[in-house]
Amino acid sequence: MEIITRTARLQSMAAKFAVESKPIGFVPTMGALHEGHLSLVREARRMSDAVVVSVFTSSAQFTPREDYERSPRDLARDADLLTPIGVDCLFAPSTDELFPKNFSTWIEVAELSDKLEGISRPNHFRGVTTAFLVLFNILKPKFVFMGQKDAQQTILVKKMIRDLHLSVEVVVMPTLRDADGLAYSSRNVALTPEERGAAPVIYRALHMAEEMFADGERSASKLSKAIRREIASEPSARIDYLAITDSERLEPLDDLSHQTALVSIAVYFGNTRLIDNVVLGDDRFRSKTGRLKLG
Ligand code: AMP
Repeated sequence: MEIITRTARLQSMAAKFAVESKPIGFVPTMGALHEGHLSLVREARRMSDAVVVSVFTSSAQFTPREDYERSPRDLARDADLLTPIGVDCLFAPSTDELFPKNFSTWIEVAELSDKLEGISRPNHFRGVTTAFLVLFNILKPKFVFMGQKDAQQTILVKKMIRDLHLSVEVVVMPTLRDADGLAYSSRNVALTPEERGAAPVIYRALHMAEEMFADGERSASKLSKAIRREIASEPSARIDYLAITDSERLEPLDDLSHQTALVSIAVYFGNTRLIDNVVLGDDRFRSKTGRLKLG
């Protein structure tokens, strides 16, 4: 596996794969890799001839609280996890490499980027969609692999692809969870042991909503109430937002009888903010592949 830090080198790698007729599967990440990321990489390996993983945090430029550069040790750890899967190339640029000082072209998916996560993280998605487009233009991947865990990001990127007639295909992978239901996240390591013990309440609450939906409940307010009640059973949990929306425009829904619904939640444990979601929909809303529609 080659580790690349320069966009010019990545471009020549991509050109080489194109000459060899090797379609690229691309997995964008912010590093600190865990099993969730690796499930995307394994699927990329299965579906594509060349696999490129990127480690880049576009947020660094826009939300100073989260500003950090990856340490060489983190990168070495990420590389050790990717090598056995057979990744061809790990792209780990500095912020300045991807967004040089004179960078001035931004992509914003209007109406989607200021909802849900966008309320707590202003400008976050502008950085994300711009970084994705820059990387798509350099790599020209056939597939991009993304997790349902970040449902809003997936929906935004799909919308950008449709609006701009990009040819990359999004493959959405299910959220991978620890045995107690907590979704794998690079933020989980920031939880204290007590918080880590409390955090599975998030999926317990979401799963309860799934079961209520399966039993015929179609009222968003009743599902919301039940989720809030369950989360409140953990005194250390503080809800940032809970929203039940459609899965394309992210507009709030009342009656869930007519379309797929996305239940999104962000919960604080101390200073650590965790997100999770589930998709509710009956068989009428499934795509040909059997998956519920997202974006
Ligand atoms: P991140 O490094 O957090 O930006 O995540 C990179 C990609 O991995 C995104 O497409 C995420 O949705 C996906 N991802 C993160 N956590 C999980 C998880 N627990 N299961 C599946 N995919 C995940």
